[in-house]
Amino acid sequence: MLEQGTISIHTENIFPIIKKSLYSDHQIFLRELVSNAVDAIQKLNMVSRAGEYAGDIGEPEIVIAIDKDKKTVSISDNGIGMTAEEIKKYINQVAFSSAEEFIQKYQGKSDQPIIGHFGLGFYSSFMVAQKVEIDTLSYKEGAQAVHWSCDGSPAFTLEESSRTTRGTTITLTLLPDEEEYLESARIKNLVKTYCDFMPVPIKLEGEVLNQQKAPWRESANNLTKEEYLEFYRYLYPFQEEPLLWVHLNTDYPFIINGILYFPKMKPDVDVTKGQIKLFCNQVFVSDNCEEIIPQFLTPMRGVIDSTDIPLNVSRSALQGDRTVRKIGDYIAKKVGDRLKELYRDNREQYISAWKDLGTFVKFGVLNDEKFKKQVEDIIIFRSTAKIAQKAAETPAVEVQSQEGDVWQDVTANSQDAISTTPYTTLKEYLERNKERHENRVFYSTDEATQATYIELHKNQGLEVLFMDSFIDTHFINFLEREYQDVKFTRVDSDLDNTLLDKDKASEIVDPKTNKTRTEVIKELFEKALNKPKVNIRTEALKSDDPQGTPPAMVLLPEILRRLREM
Ligand code: ADP
Ligand code: MG
Repeated sequence: MLEQGTISIHTENIFPIIKKSLYSDHQIFLRELVSNAVDAIQKLNMVSRAGEYAGDIGEPEIVIAIDKDKKTVSISDNGIGMTAEEIKKYINQVAFSSAEEFIQKYQGKSDQPIIGHFGLGFYSSFMVAQKVEIDTLSYKEGAQAVHWSCDGSPAFTLEESSRTTRGTTITLTLLPDEEEYLESARIKNLVKTYCDFMPVPIKLEGEVLNQQKAPWRESANNLTKEEYLEFYRYLYPFQEEPLLWVHLNTDYPFIINGILYFPKMKPDVDVTKGQIKLFCNQVFVSDNCEEIIPQFLTPMRGVIDSTDIPLNVSRSALQGDRTVRKIGDYIAKKVGDRLKELYRDNREQYISAWKDLGTFVKFGVLNDEKFKKQVEDIIIFRSTAKIAQKAAETPAVEVQSQEGDVWQDVTANSQDAISTTPYTTLKEYLERNKERHENRVFYSTDEATQATYIELHKNQGLEVLFMDSFIDTHFINFLEREYQDVKFTRVDSDLDNTLLDKDKASEIVDPKTNKTRTEVIKELFEKALNKPKVNIRTEALKSDDPQGTPPAMVLLPEILRRLREM
């Protein structure tokens, strides 16, 4: 070893870098100074609760004032204040925060977290100010009020102040380029964006600007349905009500709070762009969480608040971060749990939300193995299964049909015209049709154009599932891989000739042309459907009832009617 030592830093050189390059965005200076003010008030609470401050803590408040003549913006709080010693320690030493010490000393004295951490926020004020002043009086008995001033060079002055009220005022004399912050509209906007959910009233010109309450920090039991909806409307005004929501709340192995909503999938909603708001200790950080939540959750909305998401690293680095990945997994699991809970406890709501949820769930299943395992048994399909008429007549509470595992949507339409669309899981479908279907699943990708085929199947007592959303094309491939022993057959695809009833099929029904029954029906179908090649399953020509008309025959009048219309 040649030498051992400590790296030294020249303040003159590093100071401009801290001021200009620490944050890319000048406007966050306000967020930082308000956060410090909130912390100061929070700290006073903690000290008071610990019995170390006998004085009156008063009504906590933060007041922002603009002086256009002097070109200053000031932020005042009635929090803990600072002594000269504390200014020397926490302000004059860059990157030195009091937060850690404080939390250790007063642990358990607050349910509200301290925002500060790195001891850098204060210096962001030099991005917009040519001069920064602190006027402060500590809560400590006999403390002397002090005034600190710095013009952006590493030199500062510290002198006695005549201040008599406890708390701190930070005054920024703005740089010529930054005078936009003298506009109260600009400040209001910034407070709304960054400080809306901070737990102290923030005032400008006598008006309280922020909402203060952060519902995601409440426990789920304390919130009513209306409160969840109200919060959604607040975050996303003029939007339709969400389908359901998930309240995230964990302390281990990472801290995360939040409320995530499933919105209705509207064509005008761009679901590819994330709209979940990211917070850190109730301070707004970013308008989307795309790097944090798994991609399939992108359509969700709401709020995630976590101190365990590193905010000072690049967004692409976030994706590789292990904690962030774990947080993503946790959120996906919570979402899956919520869906399962709804499926179990409120089938009716589950079904009526399925149109919107389905795409989302299937997308998740295709993209995320763990999510797939979680929800594969609660994927449902609209079906042609017959439902006991009684079920349709019973009030909406009674959703389970008389035939067991077919579920119906009784809420989708208006109250008087109750929809009786049945839904089923694949498992239930296979179980129900074990004998008749021989492990085949019949599905339709388009109810309108495949109507005739659907009828054909129904008339043979075969159940058809509708897989007609845009994602189903991919989803069917997935199902085929998952259920290797099941044969998935589209209702209008080429069919299995082994099922032919040779006798009936080859029976000549048109003596003039010598055409067999199959040939005649085939031709009619081809014409009716305007398709050059149609394969007819001759099972369609059989009848359960030996004396009865074969089911396909029942369709003939309909086919002929169509032909006449052509
Ligand atoms: P951080 O907030 O991460 O601790 P800052 O650079 O924002 O870092 O602030 C440094 C320190 O200065 C704080 O930890 C706190 O001790 C002190 N401080 C800043 N603003 C105030 C204030 N308004 N009232 C009391 N103390 C303050
Ligand atoms: Mg700070």
